[in-house]
Amino acid sequence: MEKIKMTTPLVEMDGDEMTRILWRMIKDELLMPYIDLKTEYYDLGLEHRNETGDQVTMDSAEATKKYGVAVKCATITPNAARMTEYNLKEMWKSPNGTIRAALDGTVFRAPIVVKGIEPCVRNWEKPITLARHAYGDVYKNTEIKVPGPGKAELVFTAKDGTQIKETIHNFTGSGILQGIHNTDESITSFAKACFNFALDTKQDLWFATKDTISKKYDHNFKDIFQEIYDESYKEKFEAAGIEYFYTLIDDAVARVMKAKGGFIWACKNYDGDVMSDMVSSAFGSLAMMTSVLVSPSGVYEYEAAHGTVQKHYYKHLKGEETSTNSVATIFAWTGALRKRGELDGIEALMTFADKLEKATVRTIEAGKMTKDLALITSLADVTVLNSEGFIKAVRETFESL
Ligand code: NAP
Ligand code: MG
Repeated sequence: MEKIKMTTPLVEMDGDEMTRILWRMIKDELLMPYIDLKTEYYDLGLEHRNETGDQVTMDSAEATKKYGVAVKCATITPNAARMTEYNLKEMWKSPNGTIRAALDGTVFRAPIVVKGIEPCVRNWEKPITLARHAYGDVYKNTEIKVPGPGKAELVFTAKDGTQIKETIHNFTGSGILQGIHNTDESITSFAKACFNFALDTKQDLWFATKDTISKKYDHNFKDIFQEIYDESYKEKFEAAGIEYFYTLIDDAVARVMKAKGGFIWACKNYDGDVMSDMVSSAFGSLAMMTSVLVSPSGVYEYEAAHGTVQKHYYKHLKGEETSTNSVATIFAWTGALRKRGELDGIEALMTFADKLEKATVRTIEAGKMTKDLALITSLADVTVLNSEGFIKAVRETFESL
């Protein structure tokens, strides 16, 4: 069979440890035999980041802006232990943080739903995609531990010196204070990314804040979303047969528990932090979670939600067998290839992505899976495969479809 041709390169960001090993296997077994894979390769492995003074991460983000679609392997975010382990010149920043800042993106996370790995919430039939605003609020706060009685004020000084002043509280004893902010620009980017992603994936969009209590701060989020929706998206949503739905955060939480799934849930930064961990663990496993960073200008970066699976890598280095789940990394590739196909009008690439995803899901549903899933599956007849064995099994299923 002739290999599928690509016209525009994918930006390929290689990574670290066990996921770097899986990356190679996925390319060799599942992609290169079928696709004339065209990528612009960036090695984001920690050694190479260190050699280049992290320039490679910046370059890969710029390339993503240029070409529009990237696929990223999990990478190490250095801490003190990694400084010694890799003899680093500097404690380099999180590559995901750098890329997110460069692309001004919103991260969408969705579980890969498979029969036999049931969500804890019985009525969830379809995936729930979580969109988390990744700027500001409590993550960029200023705090004071109030030592004793006194007056706390909120003061804004404009460039021309004029001030807006509000009393926060007259303290009669000790206490605590916190200042948080967000910007209209960032909220606007977040809203656009959510509306675009909803249109792209043909799913309803839910957004929730606590605007009844926070009448200016949270209300501003609600207003910006509504204005952008009315101005630029209402007609497109109606044409696509999808809905934008705003409610209070506590109401959203209650409704999510009763819902069937199949929608996008947009959350403010803190809500998104908490709710994405709840949703992903309720769906079964971090190894079955995909993640895509979408910029307001329509640039996409696909990856797995989990890390480099360090413990498995150390076993691998000792020559021991590993059973590391490659599903989320496979889906990062299929997501990127499908998007590339869509943008370049290459039908065969989109069909390939669909078929590879189907083969991956069918392999698990046939009882062939890695150890992490074997531990939680409701299927009776299960064969636990090693890292390579699972990828080979997916290839067999793929060939049979
Ligand atoms: P992790 O790599 O996600 O792994 C944590 C544990 O979850 C593993 O030890 C394993 O449990 C299980 N697990 C995760 N993914 C799995 C998979 N694909 N298959 C099977 N089991 C899986 O998180 P971490 O150990 O906290 O972090 C390791 C490194 O990854 C860190 O250096 C961190 O900076 C980096 N990281 C990168 C990203 C990213 O690039 N997006 C995200 C998070 C973390 P068992 O050991 O019990 O089998
Ligand atoms: Mg968290």
